[in-house]
Amino acid sequence: MLEIDQQGMVIHNTQVTPRRSLMIERGRMVQVQGIVVHQTNSSSEKSVFNSYQNPKANGAHFLIAKDGTIYQTASLLFKTNHVGRLRSRCLAEKRCAPADIAMQARAGYQQIHDSEMSKSVPARYPSNADSIGIEIVGVAIPPAPGSIPSSLQGRSRERYIEEHSTYEAVNGPQKMSLQYLIDELAQFLSIPKTEVHRHPDVSYKNRTEASTASWQ
Ligand SMILES: [Zn+2]
Repeated sequence: MLEIDQQGMVIHNTQVTPRRSLMIERGRMVQVQGIVVHQTNSSSEKSVFNSYQNPKANGAHFLIAKDGTIYQTASLLFKTNHVGRLRSRCLAEKRCAPADIAMQARAGYQQIHDSEMSKSVPARYPSNADSIGIEIVGVAIPPAPGSIPSSLQGRSRERYIEEHSTYEAVNGPQKMSLQYLIDELAQFLSIPKTEVHRHPDVSYKNRTEASTASWQ
């Protein structure tokens, strides 16, 4: 069983290395209802630690390096921004009420998010307000330059590249560490495994992010 100190940091644990970044913490988290798994789009943990020095940085609570080292980067008592706007869960699970379907037909991402936040888990996905984030170091490999339509310029070209990139596979040591961390957190926080999600399933992200991450 995980042991947590009064600051919300894991202690007495040879598998979790403390590397807290106060800059990414965003106020107390009242209740933890889920876990969201990410990939960093970076080749090592160094650039992530650097970005966590920025007072506006988004970040997650844990970071799993290429060699499987687990860093705790934020206190379990605090929220961090790692999810973004929520997708409709009833839509993904094909159980929306007619009123929900009608609203979504004319709503933008923000309106859908706001509507989701008026529900509670498991009717909606876990959000920034109530989930632990786990980042796994890994790059998104961009599409071949020749395959990018030349008509696209500037921001729309960037968006095309983002959407058509493919995240590298989570490696063996990372898989073992992820399984360990999810098992321990789920038990410690009493979170059912059905509330452990990949980032693109809960928000609007590249579909391949964390697609090769697995847990039981
Ligand atoms: Zn993510």
